Amino acid sequence: MSAAPPAGLPRGVAALARALDERALSSREATAALLAAIEAEQRRPDGLGAFLAVDAEGALAAADAADAARARGDSGPLAGVPIAHKDIFVTRGQPSTAGSRMLAGYRSPFDATVVARLGAGEPGGAPGAGTVCLGKLNCDEFAMGSANENSAFFPTRNPWDRSRVPGGSSGGSAAGVAAGLVAGATGTDTGGSIRQPAAFCGITGIKPTYGVCSRHGMIAFASSLDQAGPLGTSAEDCALLLSAMSGHDPRDATSAARPPQDYAAAMRAPRPGASAARPLQGVRIGLPAEFFPPGLAPDVAAAVRAALTELEKLGATLLDVSLPRTELSIPVYYIIAPAEASSNLSRFDGVRYGHRAARYADLADMYRKTRSEGFGAEVKRRIMIGTYVLSHGYYDAYYLQAQKLRRMIADDFRAAFGRCDLIAGPVAPTVAWKLGAGADDPVQAYLADIFTLPASLAGLPGMSVPAGFGEGGLPVGLQLIGDYFAEGALLHAAHALQQATDWHARRPQ
Ligand code: GLN
Repeated sequence: MSAAPPAGLPRGVAALARALDERALSSREATAALLAAIEAEQRRPDGLGAFLAVDAEGALAAADAADAARARGDSGPLAGVPIAHKDIFVTRGQPSTAGSRMLAGYRSPFDATVVARLGAGEPGGAPGAGTVCLGKLNCDEFAMGSANENSAFFPTRNPWDRSRVPGGSSGGSAAGVAAGLVAGATGTDTGGSIRQPAAFCGITGIKPTYGVCSRHGMIAFASSLDQAGPLGTSAEDCALLLSAMSGHDPRDATSAARPPQDYAAAMRAPRPGASAARPLQGVRIGLPAEFFPPGLAPDVAAAVRAALTELEKLGATLLDVSLPRTELSIPVYYIIAPAEASSNLSRFDGVRYGHRAARYADLADMYRKTRSEGFGAEVKRRIMIGTYVLSHGYYDAYYLQAQKLRRMIADDFRAAFGRCDLIAGPVAPTVAWKLGAGADDPVQAYLADIFTLPASLAGLPGMSVPAGFGEGGLPVGLQLIGDYFAEGALLHAAHALQQATDWHARRPQ
């Protein structure tokens, strides 16, 4: 049986929005078809496990509202397009769990800003883009992980090979988009959680510059790194979703105060001196030697090289650059992220939200039992690491050193961007691994984040673009990194590549 969406349904946000515009189908038809596909998936013994919650009733009601708004001619740009949200975003009227037992059964009284802007709009604010929300997508617990196996509920499978992981932590988002169960999805990326699952599932994802999307209503992992972004079937899908979900939000003090952006227009805008055959004429792409180490899997290296050759044919020039502290990004990230997590997760104490232990002797015992029962092994590991590196006597040796190195990693990028416009390399050192393969070695999983962590630490935008297939026919992702707020240039380059190649159009059987 194939994982393909219902025959005839256009694939992706852009195609579906066009079909809805042309009245080729209604949002109710599209929504009902996807709900049926999700249900069929849930009945399979080897089901993808992409959804933690499905809201059929709410989705159909929103679809009808979108169809009515379209008929009236006052609909948002993505009215009626069925998507779903990573369960890190809180949603009114649907469960919000962050993939954790700690928040099982939790219902948020409000929508995250990103959710509201993609949907019906913020209360008392401008109307939203009008997408239909099908439900909440599986993820690693509190977004900690790279394989979706840290979900407290069940793992997600990779639609290209159901014995393999989809990547993480936005694994449900990536698997859902790749399998055609949703037109597009939201994700969050703290150290690679949009880019790496997008790469493992053969779809397109963008982590914007820190501050482009509001963190209001995004359950916090590491606040100085957390950033929301879209996953889609193409750069165009991502541009449409990002235009709708981004923008300044007074409720997030780290939100960038910039005017609203039209990323689809930026994606299409021709560069000066470019031609139809050479749309990337004049674009300098830097290849950091550190992103092509001798240990890089040969199938990944070959696919990335082939994509770079295509970019060259489109007019880009390739040059060597250096990001000398790439390797250090692993210890730096795995100090800073757990430090922030240990602080953020202190709020889950059995008093204000979610789980509370049923039996306890006194207050300290209640905290201890609640947190022991509510958190999974990886979350506990990070809380302990974070508490340790922030503790008196170790703060200077670990946390402060990591902060200094974080600045130096950002400086390395600044030097590189003095010579190039974009930086390219692989997203991950290998294709998707087998379910269960990384279960008992967390350090192995941390090491696999090497190519996504540097841009996260620097706060730079990064993208994963399908770049063909490696071992076992599994997808490989090309990573493109841009300078601050260069999302338009990233999407432009990715779109040019996707106009000339069809890697992104391939789908799992
Ligand atoms: N894999 C990384 C981690 O486990 C990144 C996760 C993320 O970006 N949320 O922390």
